[in-house]
Order: sequence, then C-alpha cells, then structure tokens
Amino acid sequence: MTVHQEHAIDLEALRARYRAERDRRLRPDGEAQYTPLGADRGAGDPWAGDDDGDRAPVHDAVDALVVGGGFGGLVAAARFRDAGLERIRVVDAAADLGGTWYWNRYPGVACDVESYIYLPLLEEVGVMPTRKYAPGEEIRRHAQAIGRRFDLYRDALFRTEVTGLAWDDEAARWTVRTNRGDVVSARYVVISSGPFNRPKLPGIPGIADFRGHTFHTSRWDYEHTGADLERLADRRVAVIGTGATAIQVVPHLARAARHLLVFQRTPSCVDERGDRTTDPAWWETLEPGWQRTRRENFLALVDGREAGDDLVDDRWTDTAPVRGRRRAATGREDPALAVELADAEKMDEIRARVDDLVDDAATADALKPWYRQMCKRPTFSDAYLQAFNRPDVTLLDTRGAGVERITPDGLVVDGVEHPVDTIVLATGFELGADPATRAGVDIRGRDGLPLAEYWADGLRTFHGWVSRGFPNLFHLGSTQNAASPNFAHVLEVQAEHVAGVVAEAEQRGAVLVEPSAAAEDRWVATIRERAVDMQDFQAQCTPGYYNGEGRPRRRSEQFGGGPVEFHAVLADWREHGDHDEVFTPR
Ligand code: NDP
Repeated sequence: MTVHQEHAIDLEALRARYRAERDRRLRPDGEAQYTPLGADRGAGDPWAGDDDGDRAPVHDAVDALVVGGGFGGLVAAARFRDAGLERIRVVDAAADLGGTWYWNRYPGVACDVESYIYLPLLEEVGVMPTRKYAPGEEIRRHAQAIGRRFDLYRDALFRTEVTGLAWDDEAARWTVRTNRGDVVSARYVVISSGPFNRPKLPGIPGIADFRGHTFHTSRWDYEHTGADLERLADRRVAVIGTGATAIQVVPHLARAARHLLVFQRTPSCVDERGDRTTDPAWWETLEPGWQRTRRENFLALVDGREAGDDLVDDRWTDTAPVRGRRRAATGREDPALAVELADAEKMDEIRARVDDLVDDAATADALKPWYRQMCKRPTFSDAYLQAFNRPDVTLLDTRGAGVERITPDGLVVDGVEHPVDTIVLATGFELGADPATRAGVDIRGRDGLPLAEYWADGLRTFHGWVSRGFPNLFHLGSTQNAASPNFAHVLEVQAEHVAGVVAEAEQRGAVLVEPSAAAEDRWVATIRERAVDMQDFQAQCTPGYYNGEGRPRRRSEQFGGGPVEFHAVLADWREHGDHDEVFTPR
C-alpha cells in the first residue's frame, strides 16, 4: 500500500474507490441512453413570442454568412464588419442573438467564468458588467449590444437553420440553403454552432407517461412556473441531474417549490464561487487594453504557466491540474504522481467543504464526489450545497444508477415511488456528435465532397479553422485547436484570426482562402505528434460527456501545446507565415 505520509493520502485506496464509483456507473448503452429534444418533446422556442418564423424565402448574395449568433459568430461578424465587408448575415435557429445564452434562461443562469474576461468586446462596446459573474440576462443583452454596435441585425435571419452548404467552384462562392427555403450565395461562411446546441433527454423508462409537467432547463417553462417561480409554491418539483446547470437552478427551486426533490446520479464537484457586485471605482482604474491582459493572465494560469499575479483570482486557477502542474514543477515527485497527489488533496478539500456546509451527515456523504476533479466540469456555488439544509429539499441519491423509472405520478428510486407535479430535466447537451455534422448542416466542398467524408478518418484542418477542398469555409470551436475554461476567449481569438486572414484576402483581391495540401498535412501531423493522450485518464473517470459516457475517444483532436502556445502559433503565422500556402488564386 502506498500511503503518502506527508498528506496522509492512501492513493491505492483512493484509486480503488474511484474505480468502484466508475464501474457502478458504466452502462452498456453509453451515449445512446439519451434521446434528443425533438420537436415532439418540447424543442420549440419559448422565447420567440409571436414570431413563428414564417416569412418569404430569401434569395440573395452576401459577403459573409455566419452560422450561429453566439459569441464566436458575433465576434467573427464584428471583425468582418471592421474589415469592410458590407453584407454580413448571421443565421440562427433562435429568434435573436446570444447562442447558448439565448436558450438558457433558467432561474439562476449565470456565467461561472468571470464576466470581465468572459464577455467579448467589453471595451469596444463600453459595458461594465454588474457582477463578477454576470447573470444570463445581462450576457444575452451584451450579445444584442454587439449585434447593434456592428449592425448585424440588418441582414440577420432568425428562426432559421442552415441545412446545406455547397461550394460552387465556378462562382467561387458557397450556396447556402435553409429550412425556410432560403438560397443565399456567400463568399465566406463561418460555422460557429457551439457545443450546447443540442439538449438531450434521459432515456428513463416511462418518461413519456408522466402526467405532470416536464421541461428541459434550456427551454424553461415560465408559464408553468411563473416569472418568479411563484406557481411552484404548491407543487412538488423534481430536478433530474446535478451538473453545472442544476447547481445554479437548485437554490432557486428550493426557495420556490413546496417541496424540491433532487435526483442525483453522480455528485458534482462544487467549489467556492465568491460572486460580488462590480466596484465602479475599481472599474474606472482599468487602463485601455485591460481586458486582453486579464484574459491572457487567466489563460496562462489555467494552462499551468507562470503569469505573475492572478488577476481574476477565483477557483479556476486552483483546480487540480493547475495545482498538479505547480507541484510537479517542484521536482519533488515523479510528475504524474505529483499531479495525482495534488488532485487527491484538492478533492479532499472539496469533500471537506461538503461536510462544512451540509448539516445532515448522510446527505453530506451522498453529496461528495469520488473521482478526479477534471473527470467532470467543476462547478462553483455558494448556495447549492446549503440548499440541502432546508426541510423542504430532499436529496434522492441513486448511487450511480439514475432514476429507475418514471410513472404517471412520479419517479422511482430503489423501488420507491416519489410523487411529483413537475419534472425539471437538467440533463445537459449532446456533445459527442461528429464535428462534421453537429451543426446539422450537409456540407459539400469542391466536386461535391461531403465534409463528413473528408473527415471520416479524423479531422483534417490547417490550424483548426479551414480545410482543403472547402475554400472560404471557416470553423470556430473545438476542431484541432486548443480549449480553455474561458471558451468565449478562445472563440474570440479564433474569430479574430479568421477575420484577419479574410481581411488580407480581400486586400489581395481575387484569392481563395484554402490551405495547400502540405500546410494541412503539417498541421494534422502536429496534432497527432503533440496530442495529449487523455484516454487513460478519462477511462478511469466516472461516465459523463467529457469521456463519451465512459468510452473515451481513441484520439485527441486538440493541440497538445495548450491554448497559450496555440494562440502564439496563430499570431506567428499571421506575422511571419507563408500566406501563399493558404491563399490560392481563383
Ligand atoms: P451535464 O451534462 O453536466 O449534467 C447532466 C446531469 O444529468 C448529470 O448530473 C447527469 O448525471 C444527470 N443525469 C443524466 N441522466 C440521468 C438519469 N437517467 N438519472 C439521473 N440523473 C441523470 O449538463 P449541464 O446542463 O448541467 O451542463 C452542461 C454544460 O454546460 C456544463 O458542463 C458547462 O460546460 C455548461 N454550463 C456552463 C455554465 C456557466 O456558467 N458557464 C452554467 C451551466 C452549464 P451523471 O453525472 O451521472 O451523468
């Protein structure tokens, strides 16, 4: 037995506990346990009001078409505007801008990355977020403000889904088709469809038979709950799921419902949040360029690098991997062991926090997470765990099994039926979808080649944003680039890069933006060589969307050098790279 005396951590015992927790959650159906939120299952748009989306089809030509009105698409469109493009068309299934912040309006929805570094273009739009962690409504309004500031509403098409993109080599343009019968010709197309565009429902037997009311958190039904949840005062409400969404929504439901029952399959790791209002006097002291400095400081610190003072100073820079890298740098132990020990310490603190905050010992025990911290998305709350101290809140821990069955009147756990009037599904989003098809668009490049076919054996891109045979089509998100908890930041860097390259293409006149075979091969080789093999780590994790519900992908498509180095790669290419390997004459 290896007991690390210094911290009294019995790693062997901890590993065995983690393994047991994982094993009891592995299910043969993996990702197939979920079903999509289809049109027949509440996938409508509760925020569209009278706008039924009915309109005459559009047949015209634009300079750039952007699929997705979330922050990635908005920054790309804003920078296209700066580059002098005249007709820029954002297309979104929603009735307005905002992306995930358009859909997610559940009570308590807020950013849990600091708003000063999360919200794009704060300095340009001239906005001071009201809180360190801005509420969703404010974030949505910021997306709209970007839309107005860069005149993006003029050509936008809402309540519209792009269904097909076909490259017309002769015209050197994309023909874009939508579910509204539009046919638009576009010189450039950006796809920024976001990771959270497909809500999923749990495949719990009997779910369709429930006689009460059910909805998914991303389609909150305020008609049912009342604007302040006042209509829940005489109702028993169930929440299924305890991920980042549930952590935010539970304290609100706890206050409003006659009785709240939280059905837990796997507890989240809940760290401190430390939200506060923005001090206007401090805001006044910020010098121009502050947002970039603050974002880069955060990015470097969460990437485990030295970056001087921790400007954001929240729990994201205290996660297990960040601590682990610091510990490994001391050279005291073998690096992998150092990282594991740091993780064990961190998770001990997280579990101790549960004991500190939750009065009932059995409830506290059930709320303790037993896995390595990055097995699941860490969460942050100063109200979630405390909610279980209320007499009108009950935790129903399913010990990894999930809700057994739903009857017309309630939910069954361990053979016991718990009657409820309302079921709130905080069960997340489908993230495993194939990157070539996840936007729901049939993409066909030169000679009609489907992108799904071109990427069938793995992604092929140059620097993550453009592929050979698919000229002038740009991807934002997680394709052979590098991620960070501040997703809005990495999206902005990608969007600005794409728009910068387009600006130069425009200056040069008649060119296509399309990588040479050599440039693309080089990047694919870099991705393969530098890939960080997360498979072993993820295979030991409790199931969830991070590890394909217990079946980790065979190969990472992320740049192994991390986001700081990736951003340097992009900047360096813009500055010194051979642009001819991406610009081809028409
Ligand atoms: P998640 O996928 O993180 O959570 C889904 C939850 O549903 C899990 O707790 C899961 O349990 C549970 N579940 C699924 N099926 C069953 C079942 N049959 N019985 C019982 N429980 C079940 O979705 P979220 O919506 O919480 O979060 C998705 C992502 O959205 C986050 O990871 C985060 O990236 C983002 N987000 C960001 C926020 C921000 O502030 N920036 C706020 C909210 C979300 P199990 O763990 O066992 O699978």
